[in-house]
Amino acid sequence: MTPASFERVGTANETPQDQTFEPSVAELLRRNNTFAARFHDSELQVMPTRNLAVVACMDSRIDTFQILGLGNGESHIIRNAGGVITDDVIRSLCLSQRFLGTREIILIHHTDCGLQSVDEDDFRHELEEELGVKPWWSLETFKDPYLDVRQSIQRLLMTPFVPYKENISGFVYDVTDGLLHEVIVDRDK
Ligand SMILES: [Zn+2]
Repeated sequence: MTPASFERVGTANETPQDQTFEPSVAELLRRNNTFAARFHDSELQVMPTRNLAVVACMDSRIDTFQILGLGNGESHIIRNAGGVITDDVIRSLCLSQRFLGTREIILIHHTDCGLQSVDEDDFRHELEEELGVKPWWSLETFKDPYLDVRQSIQRLLMTPFVPYKENISGFVYDVTDGLLHEVIVDRDK
């Protein structure tokens, strides 16, 4: 059954149906063989050469390295639904800064995010009714990606586990034209 929250936003008909789904592992492994045949990254080191960590939404339209003109070995990329600053993102950033030398953080949220079309309360209620248990995590839905970036920056400024906070920037990526729009946060507030 399609979850009610997705029916409400009218996306049910756009979701691929299970009957037509074919696992793709065999094909992907064939592609991996092609990739490995011309592999040139064996000299890359574990420390990102740009001392940079990017936190971005998992959206399939965003090639994080490509939109920033970066290559393998230059930056950490930490991704989840929304690019939200969760405990696990803080865990990754803590390792990234304390052990792997990164000193700059860039946040990338975007327009037309999947989280914008789900209602958090409905979602929690739906899961509780269906499964008998509420999720112990928040889905972190939002309406305005610019406000959401601002909130993520504030969370980073508040955590003691990310020591280097001088160079934190936040952006909204426009999925219709590929441009990044900076979100300015007044740190004195
Ligand atoms: Zn998204």
